[in-house]
Amino acid sequence: MTTTTKYIFVTGGVTSSLGKGIIAASLAKLLQSQGYRVTIQKLDPYINVDPGTLNPYEHGECYVTDDGAETDLDLGHYERFLNTPTSQANNVTTGRIYQSVIEKERRGEFLGKTVQVIPHITDEIKERIQILGKSGDYDIVITEIGGTVGDIESLPYIEAVRQLRWDLGEDNGLVIHLTLVPYLSAAGELKTKPTQHSVKTLMESGVQADILVCRTEHHLPKDLRKKLALFCNVREEAVIQSIDASTIYDVPNLMLEEGLDKVVLKKLNLNSSAPDLSRWNEFLQRHKNPTSEITIGLIGKYVELQDSYKSILEAFIHAGAENEVKVNVEPIHSEYINADNAKLKLSHLNGVLVAPGFGERGIEGKIDAVRYVRENNIPFLGICLGMQMAVIEYSRNILGLANANSTEMDAKSPNPVISIMEEQKDITDMGGTMRLGSWECSLKEDSIAKEIYGSEIIEERHRHRYEFNSDYRAQIEAAGMIATGVNPKTNLVEIVEVPSHPWFVGVQYHPEYKSTVANPHPLFVAFVKAALKNKKK
Ligand code: GLN
Repeated sequence: MTTTTKYIFVTGGVTSSLGKGIIAASLAKLLQSQGYRVTIQKLDPYINVDPGTLNPYEHGECYVTDDGAETDLDLGHYERFLNTPTSQANNVTTGRIYQSVIEKERRGEFLGKTVQVIPHITDEIKERIQILGKSGDYDIVITEIGGTVGDIESLPYIEAVRQLRWDLGEDNGLVIHLTLVPYLSAAGELKTKPTQHSVKTLMESGVQADILVCRTEHHLPKDLRKKLALFCNVREEAVIQSIDASTIYDVPNLMLEEGLDKVVLKKLNLNSSAPDLSRWNEFLQRHKNPTSEITIGLIGKYVELQDSYKSILEAFIHAGAENEVKVNVEPIHSEYINADNAKLKLSHLNGVLVAPGFGERGIEGKIDAVRYVRENNIPFLGICLGMQMAVIEYSRNILGLANANSTEMDAKSPNPVISIMEEQKDITDMGGTMRLGSWECSLKEDSIAKEIYGSEIIEERHRHRYEFNSDYRAQIEAAGMIATGVNPKTNLVEIVEVPSHPWFVGVQYHPEYKSTVANPHPLFVAFVKAALKNKKK
């Protein structure tokens, strides 16, 4: 094992969306499987302090960590691959870097100096990169730099990497550059020029890539690898092919075949051994050989974007594999559901998940969907806003509470069954002010929740401002919707169930954030099981 922490930087060239996060996570998996303690960090070059204020249309899902950080969705991949929690330190944006430097300037910490991008911003970046390394918890820190080399906003990060490579010394750091090798069908050829140019752009900033990972749709022949090595100043064995895979979970094995872990460990002067991927491969085996199939409706308002509900989709993959079931997720836009077409849109589904979300758009469709599945005994999982919609639906249609609503949607509702907490009422800053991160929840005997989790107290991650209004709890429970999980300190309702229904569970928290390949989330596993049972019936 090592004494100094080693640093691996992952940059991207040619285009965005090449999957730096998956490559970083796959490499980390291979290193972890050889006994190294590895973590991954993402540096994002935008000016938002965190992605919490970003619309899913802009940036996909906002991923929440145990410590309540609102982060980039790549952190979800890191946790799902490595099965170790991340934290605020694993995601840093330009906004956060500047905020911290400006706060220091206001406190007079720069002693009258002119505060500049170099050295003050770059020093702050270098410090943030090394926080995880200095904790003593990791042998290797992989830092993924968001954006594409050559972007104006990436420059301070690339400069920080250049400086750090000097500070760290030869064996302690390396740069992996992820690029695209496009195939031109008219010419029938794979083209290396974009990669040559992006490596050159990186070199103009004083950074030489040690390893090239080349995204491609076709196998890279030996002569092309040779050519890339020659033009880009890397060893031939350091030209790694990353061919399109049918699932992201294949990528660790593909990288193993290409020897990415070996090249990395050799360069860092660390021992390599055969990684133990047995558990991972068992999962893949089950994932690829399902014995049955179900269809789950995912009801939300960002369903046209595959990144908006990333963790939910991945949680279904884990839970599907666990049950040896192929889970087809059918996205259904909540804005177009109403009482008249609910049967048409939902009756063929084996289970329905009503998704998290914010704001008024599409909520009446969610409420109509909950009513349909409740009345027709279709297994239901409501997450966060989805749980809140289930409470509203029950209040309106079973308790007959006219215009029951959440005060998020209707501040003047006569029956605010979902409402804002006292301490949230005066908040005007939107960033980082919701109920965030891990909270305890104690489970009621003889509930689905208790049976699924098998323990008294659980911890799950939250991200919301509104809550089940406890003033209505007695009435709602008397009518048949039971609070089966509550926060042991505040008594806030975290889980509701309808025992007269075969499987109806709403959770105020986000179970999807904690589902990993090694630990599929029990709630998703049970939901898939219930949907399968419903299908067989
Ligand atoms: N908009 C709701 C709230 O703030 C639900 C949030 C969510 O689904 N994450 O309470």
